[in-house]
Amino acid sequence: MVGAPGVGKTALISQFQTSECINAYDRQRDVDSSEQKVSILLNGEESELYFVNCTSAKEEIDRFEPPDAFVVIYSVVDKASFQKAEQELARMLDSDMLRSRPALLVANKIDLARSRAVSTQDGKCLACTYKAKFIEVSVGINHNVDELLVGILNQIRLKKQQY
Ligand code: GDP
Repeated sequence: MVGAPGVGKTALISQFQTSECINAYDRQRDVDSSEQKVSILLNGEESELYFVNCTSAKEEIDRFEPPDAFVVIYSVVDKASFQKAEQELARMLDSDMLRSRPALLVANKIDLARSRAVSTQDGKCLACTYKAKFIEVSVGINHNVDELLVGILNQIRLKKQQY
């Protein structure tokens, strides 16, 4: 989970952990770690997703074992966070990280409609340039959060079938 400070990464991961598609018995949260686990039962198959919250993808790219997916998040009321998202996607592409793993571009805070500074079209265009999936969400009003969680898992499963 990559994005500028304040875009809602922490809030989104917390919201994932209360999602209705999570198995109730396994809804645990490791508060001491920056890696947070969400267990999901989707299409009869159980998966565990570990989220790492970071401002820059650089450390994740440099890891011996990079993540299975990149979720790049910006806030629609913060133009600079959109520019940061673009920089991060460019870095991922340059490091050849996007060939075998999915990237999802997430526009958050769409509940703040009157303060919007980044249009839906601009988000779609950016996602298209980097062949990323695009979704607009609001963690604040829990809009499209479950859809995003399912989308992340589906994209990971799809890529794993291909490679
Ligand atoms: P992080 O720095 O990316 O981890 O951002 P946080 O998750 O700490 O969120 C920063 C602030 O934005 C907090 O005050 C959140 O409550 C708020 N926030 C997160 N998502 C939304 C949203 O969808 N709508 C609104 N209005 N506020 C949000």
